[in-house]
Amino acid sequence: MGLLSQGSPLSWEETQRHADHVRRHGILQFLHIYHAVKDRHKDVLKWGDEVEYMLVSFDHENKRVQLILSGEEILETLQEQGERTNPNHPTLWRPEYGSYMIEGTPGQPYGGTMSEFNTVEDNMRKRRKEATSLLEGHQALCTITSFPSSSICCRLGCPGFTLPEFKPNPVEGGASKSLFFPDEAINKHPRFSTLTRNIRHRRGEKVVINVPIFKDKNTPSPFIETFPEDDEAAKASKPDHVYMDAMGFGMGNCCLQVTFQACSIAEARYLYDQLATICPIVMALSAASPFYRGHVSDIDCRWGVISASVDDRTREERGLEPLKKNKYRISKSRYDSIDSYLSECGEKYNDIDLTIDKEIYEQLLREGLDHLLAQHVAHLFIRDPLTLFEEKIHLDDANESDHFENIQSTNWQTMRFKPPPPNSDIGWRVEFRPMEVQLTDFENSAYVVFVVLLTRVILSYKLDFLIPLSKVDENMKVAQKRDAVLQEMFYFRKDICKGGNAVVDGCGKAQSSTELATEEYTLMSINTIINGKEGVFPGLIPILNSYLENMEVDVDTRCSILNYLKLIKKRASGELMTVARWMREFIANHPDYKQDSVITDEMNYSLIFKCNQIANELCECPELLGPAFRKVKYSGSKTESSN
Ligand code: GLU
Ligand code: MG
Repeated sequence: MGLLSQGSPLSWEETQRHADHVRRHGILQFLHIYHAVKDRHKDVLKWGDEVEYMLVSFDHENKRVQLILSGEEILETLQEQGERTNPNHPTLWRPEYGSYMIEGTPGQPYGGTMSEFNTVEDNMRKRRKEATSLLEGHQALCTITSFPSSSICCRLGCPGFTLPEFKPNPVEGGASKSLFFPDEAINKHPRFSTLTRNIRHRRGEKVVINVPIFKDKNTPSPFIETFPEDDEAAKASKPDHVYMDAMGFGMGNCCLQVTFQACSIAEARYLYDQLATICPIVMALSAASPFYRGHVSDIDCRWGVISASVDDRTREERGLEPLKKNKYRISKSRYDSIDSYLSECGEKYNDIDLTIDKEIYEQLLREGLDHLLAQHVAHLFIRDPLTLFEEKIHLDDANESDHFENIQSTNWQTMRFKPPPPNSDIGWRVEFRPMEVQLTDFENSAYVVFVVLLTRVILSYKLDFLIPLSKVDENMKVAQKRDAVLQEMFYFRKDICKGGNAVVDGCGKAQSSTELATEEYTLMSINTIINGKEGVFPGLIPILNSYLENMEVDVDTRCSILNYLKLIKKRASGELMTVARWMREFIANHPDYKQDSVITDEMNYSLIFKCNQIANELCECPELLGPAFRKVKYSGSKTESSN
């Protein structure tokens, strides 16, 4: 989840006192990097995935499942047995926000050859096996986006959702002050609790997450929870919503990310923009988080929950009070969709009001940055540093980048534009961040391969998906709704081949924005976007398939890729369910479910148990994965049709 400095975290007051220092030196550090590597090109295409995992413990006798708070120890062992023993170890492990979480990546980035697509799933399997081997028989490593937990909805004194159990401690002095989420469930590295505490301090109150409840037949209407013991909660919780009050409810969720190294800064900026438009589409396709705090919600994706869980904006910044102490009104949380395109072709579609630090913007222009890159960085730098370590205040700006990373890595946006670390041979990179993690290594590989192949096609065919950024934002909102993949319509560009000579030739002739509005994009279903529709849109999968037909690919790799694309295709058409839909049906059909939107401990247990069986291929799940997808892989042939 970002930079992990070692040392003693400063209090919020002290951190705030150093905010300008961090920003000033962060910019100097960025400039050192920029000047050193801005002209670098011919870096090769490399990429890697990140999977976030939860550790769970089953109590089969009492039919309960809890999150195990031993991520730190497991991580230590994984690193000790892995990367520290052998620099070529195939997996890398990193901490994540929850003490019950770990994050795994391949040991080395993947390269540009097609056959690497055939190693992704094996590597994910290796990760699962490696981490699982450190667990006991009744424990498991799960790739679930959001832990539904029911105990989590209990008040103080009820048995907890963690193992060991801890009571939440909603008093001053704690990190979260949550009614539900104990601080012990936060990773013990000081970065995480400090982030939690300082977000709350900066905001001036606890974070507020209100997720609309799914109204089932017997759900009370209005659905109202009362919190007489907590003033903040009583005021913040909304009727017909599930109320949550801690960073852990958001950042304690898991996702699937992909990072690409581009061959040059221009290519990275082009990819950043193009993929930004794809974020809401792929997020809806990957929807996997319908349950929160023991309730069935009316959303399918975690995005807005995390966004609210780290929203450190003050009342002034959120526009609820006149600006007095703060400098800006800020329209979004630090965790949100991107606010400006970075490539020249994106400029005319930048229609979101961008709050920037003007001094930083001017300084960057003076240093030779162009307007688009300067405003991007000056926008990231309206934020305060949220953590600072006493030992890390005074740095060597020419050779370190901690202050830059401090601000950069706490801007959690749908896409991240990543300059190379100082003095490294890593190139300019972009990170694709919206996807929810899937239950199986097969699905996770499918989504990763789909996105990576899409970047190849974007670059090879010089495709152009750009639409006004405000429309991408609208898509992000819609994408989180229940069953968005089948029920909602998304703004998408009609002719994606027209203006796409972006990287090489510039951007074609400018059009007025009213002209744009009528001709360049229209509302489409995800099925149309992914699978195409005669006379409307060619479809991303057909484009990928035709690309594949022209590529030399060994038979086995081709079969794997076609299987992955089939999953995506069928999820988009509704022939297969998203994880979110499948989970909803599982709960709806559970004999204990009373159609009241409540998930009991036992229902939670059966759901996670089933998820774990599916993940470990102990049972099939055709609604989710299709008929025995795995078997096709090894018996498939090159002549297999691509649809
Ligand atoms: N777990 C977060 C999510 O679900 C991402 C944290 C990170 O940036 O690694 O989006
Ligand atoms: Mg992560």
